[in-house]
Amino acid sequence: MADMRIQLEEKDIPTHWYNVVSDMPNPPSPPLGPDGNPVGPEKMLAIFPGALLEQEMSAERWIPIPEPVREIYRLWRPTPLCRAWRLEQMLGTPAKIYYKYEGVSPAGSHKVNTSVPQAYFNKQAGIKRISTETGAGQWGSSMALAGNMFGLDVRVYMVKVSYDQKPFRRSMMQTWGAEVFASPSNMTNTGRAILAKDPNNEGSLGIAISEAVEEAATRPDTNYALGSVLNHVCLHQTVIGLEAKKQFAKINEYPDIVFGCCGGGSNFAGVAFPFLADKAAGDAKAKNTRLVAVEPTSCPTLTKGIYTYDFGDASGFTPMMKMYTLGHDFMPPGIHAGGLRYHGDSPLVSQLLHEGLIEAIAVPQVATFAAGVQFSKAEGIIPAPESNHAIRAVIDEALRCKETGEAKTLFFNLSGHGHFDMASYDRYFAGKLEDYEYPRAAIEESLAHLPKVGG
Ligand SMILES: *Cc1c(COP(=O)(O)O)cnc(C)c1O
Repeated sequence: MADMRIQLEEKDIPTHWYNVVSDMPNPPSPPLGPDGNPVGPEKMLAIFPGALLEQEMSAERWIPIPEPVREIYRLWRPTPLCRAWRLEQMLGTPAKIYYKYEGVSPAGSHKVNTSVPQAYFNKQAGIKRISTETGAGQWGSSMALAGNMFGLDVRVYMVKVSYDQKPFRRSMMQTWGAEVFASPSNMTNTGRAILAKDPNNEGSLGIAISEAVEEAATRPDTNYALGSVLNHVCLHQTVIGLEAKKQFAKINEYPDIVFGCCGGGSNFAGVAFPFLADKAAGDAKAKNTRLVAVEPTSCPTLTKGIYTYDFGDASGFTPMMKMYTLGHDFMPPGIHAGGLRYHGDSPLVSQLLHEGLIEAIAVPQVATFAAGVQFSKAEGIIPAPESNHAIRAVIDEALRCKETGEAKTLFFNLSGHGHFDMASYDRYFAGKLEDYEYPRAAIEESLAHLPKVGG
């Protein structure tokens, strides 16, 4: 039997992050301020350290990973690349299925790949506190862990529905020393205004971002950290794809299709962008490789949104970014993949989709849990509900291969484990999970409120 787990050594942890901007056919569209002009770095310095802003704007292909960050990466990196033999057999497919497993990180997902460098660069800049938001709790946990490692205080605004559904994610953040509030909260103007109108508001990522940004903008000792969407976050996540390429090289394989579930886009970026580098370099084996972002049908940003300038948060505090969006005040249905409930998407992922270099598909909730359970029975690992979206897409492709007899090599990033999501699995087992129809009316209403700038 060929390899099951393709392992690397600590020395194989990448020394540089890969910046896809260097290989994009067109430069990224700049973020715009309220006056419709590009936002200069001075404005953003109120909430981000200079080093991260440099990365945000950089067009350099390779950006060095500081040694103290690599030191912490060593706690769980390199992560394994695994062949899902048993799943292949269960499906009876001629396709080969590989996955990179990011659930081995201490916080249980890929998000620590960026929380650690973000904490490091903030510490270097003399910052004492980080305010941030979390949807499902994965980002809050990752930021809590990283803040603790570098001696920063961390305050987390946690979307109310998750705060209530996931008490142990909260405990985890508290274990690493973070303060956690349900959002909307009465700590900020944004939160108070929303609660005054609707005391039972369940929160959204957009609202929680507004709260965290408001706090960072009004306190000099405090910066803001975002767990996805921004260019520097996508950059940090490329360690996933860079390691995967080394692992594939070891076994003389190369994927025909790369899948990543997609909320704000950094997970997909992390696994997929390094393969775009091979395409850009004219590497023959990469020529036909497809890169597929997988999102929920209930929050179909890339597949049903429009490509335009919009705010990153619900209240319009952030600069406007050119991205696929459902409108900044779109409230996605309360699906269990909390990490995929975001109205917008990474500007880099959006532009690459717009230019036809990557693809996007959407899958419905119940089928994603069916895929996750099948994967667990075959491979043992219980995936996060977000990751189940990629697994659904991979299983569907493997079943197509069974019909056509094609032995394609399929690869996905298993972005996290589902150990804190078992209440969602319980609801699936009890037949209580719903598929939400494409929320056309809510999306149309929200799109009617897009800022009228930039075009
Ligand atoms: C946050 C999260 C995602 C979504 O990541 P994005 O980078 O925002 O697309 C996927 N999987 C897991 C396990 C997550 O925690």
